[in-house]
Amino acid sequence: MPRDRKYDVLFEPVKIGPKTSRNRFWQTSHCAGPGAERPGAQAHLRGMKAEGGWGVVFTEYCSIHPEADEYPYTSARIWDQGDVQNLGYMCEVAHRHGSLAGIQLWYSGGNAPSLESREFGRSPSQWLSPLFATRSVYGYAMDEFDIRTVINMYVEAGRRAEQAGFDILEVSAGDDTVPIQFLEPRFNRRTDGYGGSFANRSRFFIELLGALKRALGDRCAITTRFEMDTLHGPEGVEAHEDGVRLLERFRTEGVVDLVALKIGDYAEWGEDAGVSRYRKAGWMTPFIRQGRSLLGPGIPVVGNGRLTSPDDMVGLIGAGVLDLIGAARPSIADPFLPVKIMEGRNEDIRECIGCNICVSKFQQGGQIMCTQNATIGEEYRRGWHPEKFARTTKPCSVLVVGAGAAGMECARVLGARGYTVHLRDAERELGGHWRLVTQLPRLGEWSRVIGYRQIQLAKLKKNVEVHLGVARMSADDVLEYGADQVVLATGAPWQADGRSANAGPIPGADASLAHVLTPFQVITGKPVPGKRVLILDGDGHFMGIALAELMADQGRQVTYVCDAADVAEYGVFTMESFNNKRMLFEKGIKTLCSHWAVGIEPGRVRLAYLYRFGPDLLGPTTGAVPRRDNGGEFDLEADAVILVTSRSSDTALWRELQARRPEWPMHGVGAVFRTGDCKAPAQLNQAIWDAHRLAREFDSPHPAYPLPWIRERQLWGSPTVPQLGDPRINVEGE
Ligand code: SF4
Repeated sequence: MPRDRKYDVLFEPVKIGPKTSRNRFWQTSHCAGPGAERPGAQAHLRGMKAEGGWGVVFTEYCSIHPEADEYPYTSARIWDQGDVQNLGYMCEVAHRHGSLAGIQLWYSGGNAPSLESREFGRSPSQWLSPLFATRSVYGYAMDEFDIRTVINMYVEAGRRAEQAGFDILEVSAGDDTVPIQFLEPRFNRRTDGYGGSFANRSRFFIELLGALKRALGDRCAITTRFEMDTLHGPEGVEAHEDGVRLLERFRTEGVVDLVALKIGDYAEWGEDAGVSRYRKAGWMTPFIRQGRSLLGPGIPVVGNGRLTSPDDMVGLIGAGVLDLIGAARPSIADPFLPVKIMEGRNEDIRECIGCNICVSKFQQGGQIMCTQNATIGEEYRRGWHPEKFARTTKPCSVLVVGAGAAGMECARVLGARGYTVHLRDAERELGGHWRLVTQLPRLGEWSRVIGYRQIQLAKLKKNVEVHLGVARMSADDVLEYGADQVVLATGAPWQADGRSANAGPIPGADASLAHVLTPFQVITGKPVPGKRVLILDGDGHFMGIALAELMADQGRQVTYVCDAADVAEYGVFTMESFNNKRMLFEKGIKTLCSHWAVGIEPGRVRLAYLYRFGPDLLGPTTGAVPRRDNGGEFDLEADAVILVTSRSSDTALWRELQARRPEWPMHGVGAVFRTGDCKAPAQLNQAIWDAHRLAREFDSPHPAYPLPWIRERQLWGSPTVPQLGDPRINVEGE
């Protein structure tokens, strides 16, 4: 279907200094894991977005010098010619698809832990880093010579970036970098010409941009991504004070070709990449609108806000709020978002759900993953394309039992590959347990996981049938069904006896009793007795805290207890920890961390502090006699207990079929596979990935096990790896 002409504006070219973007789609710099060390992954991840229509594709934040080393977090690096060569391949692939390649130049000064380089960063003044406080990270205060040196570092890094083929040099101006640190009074306590007044505090930033412009501005676009409000009031950058004044300076000084605007900071990172639980699409628009009005028409503005709706995008451009659609997460969930709009296929857009699983994996030092897009990060090492599927070499019929997210994904990919698929579930609706999850407070946007797959399955109706509300399948039913192959995606219910990572079943925990409930029992309507509810969270992600909010919203007195040291501790990685705590406080939910239940009775729960005993075998830790009495244990009155403790795969059908393996040939069943939570309970992204992989490799020799994938690493003995005695390394005595 041709696209509606109202979307044409999205495909207009935009001039950015000496460069021109072919359209208004700007893939904002975002972390992904490859850095400069895995050039194949880097190039093909960004290249896939270029192929998918993003007019501009960026690296992640890119360190300009070993003084700014965030190892083990993977930034890109443009430190030397090796990095030029590796990142050059990304530029080559981006250009092949007609996109501009951008690099975000980043120097974090006194925030750099430098766990690899061991070098010290330089900062406007000396302070204990708010980013790495537990690691005791300080930088050293710059004198004027250091200021010239750091500006020169940026320029030299810019030269290397140009050599690599980058078209856009973006100065990172988040508060973890020196340009903003100079601007913010809380970091800049200088008394010389770079501190004090706004003019002095903004001087470094303007001089830096000016130096880049003079050295490279006729060949590369010079831009910045700027936090116009760090949400720290007068001690930070405020949209109504310094942020505004700096934007006015950008306009009058002529030092930038484009400004990407955002808000928030990095000590409490999460307001610029807000989760959908707390920030709906476009939440930064009021700030961006103000910034746009200050910059005037000559400087294009990029704005983000988890924008996935083409109508929202057109509306923001039409209203003059922004010129280019900035996107990190929407481009991760769907690298082909622009192409789908261009081709009039809006219904095929795989919308980001705002879960921040992608960020959480980077925050753990890992590679990018996505709940919606199983192929992200797999473009090079597994050769997966998000929109293309190899036709099967062994066509056959496949029965998929279980129409949760994993079952749907498996059926979708098998169907796209040309298999004849029957997807069956006893429930009357698609989505399995995820459908229940999306009924919890703040989680409605997560239903996009089901909605996208539902639409795609409907498009495959020639060879994919969906049977809902059927009788729960027994082993006899499966064997007699007539399918050549079987995939079980039967999920993983919550444990009904309270067993968790730290402890076995809890005495008295039995979800067949009226006062003890599992999460799914609560969502599906089992009555929660009484007013006082205790949530026992051994899971640590969203379920415990969402149920706590649900109960509080019903007017109950809620106590949230977890065995971790922090509430919903995975929120540290998804950047929702601070807002989780605010929500608990605002809703009057009491919290107890590092505690667990040792007994449940009607009307009360016996709780224990987890560290009340010293280690049994090693003796007391403090010299005191370990407490073997009831110290650290106490009773809490509770009318109902909800067990968010752990899950267990539903393997009943799997085990029954395995036991009857000799009967498979006589029924024409070649193989039975299990996937998703049925194999092992996991975060949804992993369940979907597992189902996707199985379907991609369904005609491989052993589909139950992943095919080998490309590992990018240095090989000892390769001419690119210096050996002892090589003049490139300096070893004492050599
Ligand atoms: Fe969006 Fe979640 Fe995918 Fe990140 S992981 S891009 S937040 S759907």
